[in-house]
Amino acid sequence: MTYVLAIDIGGTKLAAALVDEEGAVLRSATRPTPREQVMAALGGLVDEVTGDGPAPVAVGIGCAGPLDRGTVSPVNMPSWRRFPLRDEVRALTGLPTVLAGDAQCMALGEHWLGAGRGSSALLGVVVSTGIGGGLVIGGRPLLGPTGNAGHVGHMTIDPYGERCECGGRGCVERYASGPNMTRWALENGWRPGSEHPETARPDARMLARDAADGDSVAVAAFERGAAALAGMIASTAAATEVSTVVVGGGVSGAGPVLFEPLARALDDVGGLAFVRAVRVRPTTLGVRAGLAGAAKLAWDYSRSAN
Ligand SMILES: [Zn+2]
Repeated sequence: MTYVLAIDIGGTKLAAALVDEEGAVLRSATRPTPREQVMAALGGLVDEVTGDGPAPVAVGIGCAGPLDRGTVSPVNMPSWRRFPLRDEVRALTGLPTVLAGDAQCMALGEHWLGAGRGSSALLGVVVSTGIGGGLVIGGRPLLGPTGNAGHVGHMTIDPYGERCECGGRGCVERYASGPNMTRWALENGWRPGSEHPETARPDARMLARDAADGDSVAVAAFERGAAALAGMIASTAAATEVSTVVVGGGVSGAGPVLFEPLARALDDVGGLAFVRAVRVRPTTLGVRAGLAGAAKLAWDYSRSAN
């Protein structure tokens, strides 16, 4: 049996696994992302997963973006700016190494083993503290010339809208990310319900619970976010003819308070038959989607190199 090494790097957690050709995990481990010396922590994690075990044939990495030709500058990891991650991991392991964005890996993982299996054209969306995305077209990830294709969180859905942290205007993320829905709800009079601990900071999880309980402002915040997501999904479908959209990330755990208004909004904004035919599904792999996609990336890379 042969394996690849899959690595998933986020602002809070590093994860690694040995994965076989069918997607089965032989070994895996995680550790918190340190503020500095991330490569040292990653080296320790790789040793933990590969030590005394079968040697992997290739490495696939999913990392928070933005990316640029093998370098990464994750927004929430200030110690890495244009950090040559692909080459560093290649030097660390001595193996063929391939890198993609974390949401691109999520999309690829869901296409390989999750809710997007069999789809000829898939969009994966991660709705979390930010909004990420990835496209899998004809079974292959669409990564783009510098590695940034699929950044659907920064598609403009309102050219007269609010300024986004990216510098753009009216981005989906400004309406539909967890912190932005929470911010909008607070600005519009939402007060977290009595069931939440008074000391806790209001977040999207509380907002989802209050929306499920029928709080009108919390419901409106999810409807506003869902409308932005629907605009993005319909536009992406019109541009690429994706037929399946898999939605993951922490905020997708809100369930019907997100997915029901999303279905209604898509019905409203979608026009052409192939756009209206898009099917939106929640993730089935959850937090494991990124590692699965990194493994698939490594398998495809090792085959193309031989
Ligand atoms: Zn933006």
